[in-house]
Amino acid sequence: MERVFNFSAGPAVLPLQVLEEAQRDLLAMPGAGMSILEMSHRSKPFQAIIDATEANIRKVMNVPDNYKVLFLQGGAYLQFGMVPMNLLKGGSADYICTGTWSKKALSEGKTQGTVRCAWDGSADNFNHTPDDSELDLDPNAAYVYYTSNETIQGVQFKTEPNVGNVPLICDASSEFMYKPLDISKYGCIYACAQKNCGPAGVTIVIIREDLVENSADGLLGVLSYKKMAENGSMLNTPPCFSIYVVKLVTEWIMNTIGGVDKLYEINKMKAQLLYDVIDSSNGFYLGHAKPECRSLMNVPFKMATDELNDKFLAEAKALGLESLKGHRSVGGFRASIYNAMPVEGVQKLAEFMKDFMQKNG
Ligand SMILES: *Cc1c(COP(=O)(O)O)cnc(C)c1O
Repeated sequence: MERVFNFSAGPAVLPLQVLEEAQRDLLAMPGAGMSILEMSHRSKPFQAIIDATEANIRKVMNVPDNYKVLFLQGGAYLQFGMVPMNLLKGGSADYICTGTWSKKALSEGKTQGTVRCAWDGSADNFNHTPDDSELDLDPNAAYVYYTSNETIQGVQFKTEPNVGNVPLICDASSEFMYKPLDISKYGCIYACAQKNCGPAGVTIVIIREDLVENSADGLLGVLSYKKMAENGSMLNTPPCFSIYVVKLVTEWIMNTIGGVDKLYEINKMKAQLLYDVIDSSNGFYLGHAKPECRSLMNVPFKMATDELNDKFLAEAKALGLESLKGHRSVGGFRASIYNAMPVEGVQKLAEFMKDFMQKNG
């Protein structure tokens, strides 16, 4: 069966080369003679895989030595609890609410202690990010939390909010490794893998060592950054296969793409293809986010009415352009164009959108 162009928000498209490599070595990993699916996590070959995955992430994202790289389970969602559980320690934290995911992190954070909203974009249906001057920040906060790319609203911070000396915590799930970052600006930056860097099952947490050392004691081991760091993310069985695929994805970034700088150029070019169609459509297509903060990863858009939505989706599907239906809270369509979405897929979608407008506009 032929592969379609998959615009799903997550789990999402993976590089074909990665799938082929995983398939090739699925029955017997070179040097091990058994499948990654069958291998003990305490074995030498698996230790080599998790070490290489960490080394690759450190290289791709230029992670400073005073940061830990953890491989955790429970999805990005579990971090909505682990962050306050480990870092609040009876204090209070500030949340910047730019969309569904940061709002969810705030409401789940409340189950763990005192968290407050430092900015709320809900009045504008989350169509932009705040200026630093609009943030109502508590200088004594344990941390400031934000979501760098709102997957559902397609709103993306172009640069980190300036929060002074308070540790900045970032959910980067739907943009992780899409451009070079200065990791030293973050106390912790984390991402589930299934949007932009691998399959579901593993969450990558990059966290400054002093935050790990000072994190709360007395937690269940798998919920404790300290315990997981002390045990090399293997207090218990890690998601071995997912970690292995993240290794392949990071190798693809380094060796095939040529690094994250290159990826950023490609990502800007891909997003521009779609935004150009939207901007030059005389209102036939309407983007959700304000132009200055629209996402390079998730492009939500709609038409003036919903009348033609089913037709649009059916015709797109017939061309092999899949999973374009928008999230119910925003409506219309959403094209997720993560790192692994080939340029040809975005070109084909842009052409289809122009063609559809000509025939129906
Ligand atoms: C998908 C997503 C989540 C939730 O991830 P799970 O792995 O399903 O828990 C959280 N934050 C953002 C920004 C996301 O895109």
